[in-house]
Amino acid sequence: MRVYNTLTKKVEDFIPFEEGIVRMYTCGPTVYNYAHIGNLRTYIFEDVLEKSLNYIGYKVFRVMNITDVGHLTSDGDTGEDKMAKGALREGKTVRETAKFYTDAFFEDCAKLNIDKPAVVAPASEHIDQYIKMIKKLLDDGYAYESNGNIYFDISKAKDYYRLSGKNPEDLIVGARDSVEEDKSKRNPADFALWFTISKFQNQEMKWDSPWGVGYPGWHIECSGISAEFLGEHLDIHCGGVDNIFPHHTNEIAQSEAYFGHKWCNYWMHGEHLNDAEGKMSKSKGEFLTVSLLEEKGYNPLSYRYFCLNSHYRNQLVFSWEALDGAEQAYKKLKSRIRQLNKNPDLNENKTDAYQVRFKQAIENDLNTSSMMTLVYDVLKDEELSDFSKLFLIDDFDKVLGLDLIDEEKEIDEDFEKEILSKIEERAEAKKNKDFQKADQIREELLSRGIKLNDTREGTTYEVL
Ligand code: AMP
Ligand code: ZN
Repeated sequence: MRVYNTLTKKVEDFIPFEEGIVRMYTCGPTVYNYAHIGNLRTYIFEDVLEKSLNYIGYKVFRVMNITDVGHLTSDGDTGEDKMAKGALREGKTVRETAKFYTDAFFEDCAKLNIDKPAVVAPASEHIDQYIKMIKKLLDDGYAYESNGNIYFDISKAKDYYRLSGKNPEDLIVGARDSVEEDKSKRNPADFALWFTISKFQNQEMKWDSPWGVGYPGWHIECSGISAEFLGEHLDIHCGGVDNIFPHHTNEIAQSEAYFGHKWCNYWMHGEHLNDAEGKMSKSKGEFLTVSLLEEKGYNPLSYRYFCLNSHYRNQLVFSWEALDGAEQAYKKLKSRIRQLNKNPDLNENKTDAYQVRFKQAIENDLNTSSMMTLVYDVLKDEELSDFSKLFLIDDFDKVLGLDLIDEEKEIDEDFEKEILSKIEERAEAKKNKDFQKADQIREELLSRGIKLNDTREGTTYEVL
């Protein structure tokens, strides 16, 4: 497999640390609000990556955190606490808020066929691990205490800016209005590992530590959880591009200082979903959620289909027209698949060749649009039997996760025959200009859960 590695800025051969096994870490949501469909684009990308690695034969161990503490409204150490702000808005405790939005997140994921990683770790449940790491970073001279907080000294990190490729000069405080200076830091780019007295005295979630009662910074959570479950070598770390700096940059600095060697070999980042006004963001107030798509009558999987048609490294612009287009195409695709004859007749040689091409699309830096094209190529191929087509589409859907094949039990063979004969009868009625009869047939089928769609290629049906 070849993947684009943000660390080297190149497409490279993927070679895991241990043959056949992939240790994968993906940053989870900050649970102070619903996930917007932009966030979910990143989780769809990571889900397709995990399913693809499984498809090509790897055993994947994947871990994800849930950020329920320590994330401030800036990605650095300034601004309000996102969780406290969310709890205040809801009139709930931070814990209740975190539980509510964690559950909502996984409900959204389920609707989009995004699998739950093997390990999902709430940040607030791994405090001992962060304390252990911070202690060592202090002992080894990578961290320092100032005004009660513990900071990581970025001047001690090896090549701190290598992931982001940023120029330290551009990051000098004052050069960017959004960054306010924390006077406790030696270098303005140093970052907090542990907060005690300098922030949020009435913080709800806080723990005892060797440096006083406080709470962890956001970045140490991912380094800590990854170390606890995946050990000292990580193969793939993912997130959205906004995580590259400072979050992932800081994860590398502290994890490599802690382990004393290179930590993660491949960094893969998903590009953003934007709307007409620019980047989608939770802090903007109104934002698009899966529930909103459903309220408007869309199938959430139409959004997954929309995402899969573009490469994860390209920005994607959301519009209702684009989603309408995706929904129409997705429905039509499912309907074409539904027409295929299920009688067993497998054309082995040809199916192998398609599976090879599907693997090639995966191995070409997760080329999801090529994977989608292959589904259409299979449908068009006149040399393939319907059964082979179904076999291949079912196989590809292990990665695509689009529920392309309806469950068997939804409709039995006799009923299918009946529907097809009714469709013929209706076509005949229309030909004879007996529109009343044609409408009657349509209504009768609809009352039995079958919706007819008249397309240029003829009438197809949909099981409701
Ligand atoms: P958060 O819940 O804010 O920590 O973000 C969760 C994930 O969504 C992170 O991996 C972000 O990088 C990613 N993300 C944030 N905004 C967008 C966006 N507009 N499009 C795609 N991914 C995003
Ligand atoms: Zn993270």
